[in-house]
Amino acid sequence: MEVTKFTTSQYSANSYLVNGTILIDTSIDTEGLIKLIEEKIPIEQLELIVLTHCHFDHTASVPEIVRRSHARVGIHKVDAKCVSDTEKSVAYLFHKDAPAINIDEVYENGDVIDIGNGEKLEIIHTPGHTKGSICLYERKSKSLFSGDTIFSSGGVGRTDFEGGSVEELTKSIEKITKLDVEILYPGHGPITTDNANHHIQLSLRASKGMW
Ligand SMILES: [Zn+2]
Ligand SMILES: [Zn+2]
Repeated sequence: MEVTKFTTSQYSANSYLVNGTILIDTSIDTEGLIKLIEEKIPIEQLELIVLTHCHFDHTASVPEIVRRSHARVGIHKVDAKCVSDTEKSVAYLFHKDAPAINIDEVYENGDVIDIGNGEKLEIIHTPGHTKGSICLYERKSKSLFSGDTIFSSGGVGRTDFEGGSVEELTKSIEKITKLDVEILYPGHGPITTDNANHHIQLSLRASKGMW
């Protein structure tokens, strides 16, 4: 699996280009992100944008990227309802309205996205940060895209926004500890490039400590 990380502004999420055709999450800085994508691929090459959850810092650039690339957009079925809601998407925190996004694919736990090269992303429903948060697991390279559920070095997602739950988050992290993860690609901050299992254990401890 070939992964390129794009980070634009301080509050924007990490965005990941996977195998040159799939984008996981976007940014608040739309022009900045498009510039970075186009340094790597012609933007029309994008086929699918997968959103790890409905928050504005991950979704804001979607309409413009779709306009330029005609990529489809996928998100978990629960968060599909929140993506264009200014409150639930937390767009109001950025003094913006929620972006108008047409959802083409809705996911459930266990769904699989074919990403070419015989590789697949498995959808793992991990509620806690939002009700419809997902992680994406690629088994061959033991890679996990964790959105805002967990971060490197034992970080955990906030649970104080609407739909958040510490109890759900802890259960979700427990679910992730059952996977064998070498590389962690979180929604914010640095990538963990080896033995991510250890970092996930630290996140589980941190989450349990919040009870
Ligand atoms: Zn975020
Ligand atoms: Zn978030």
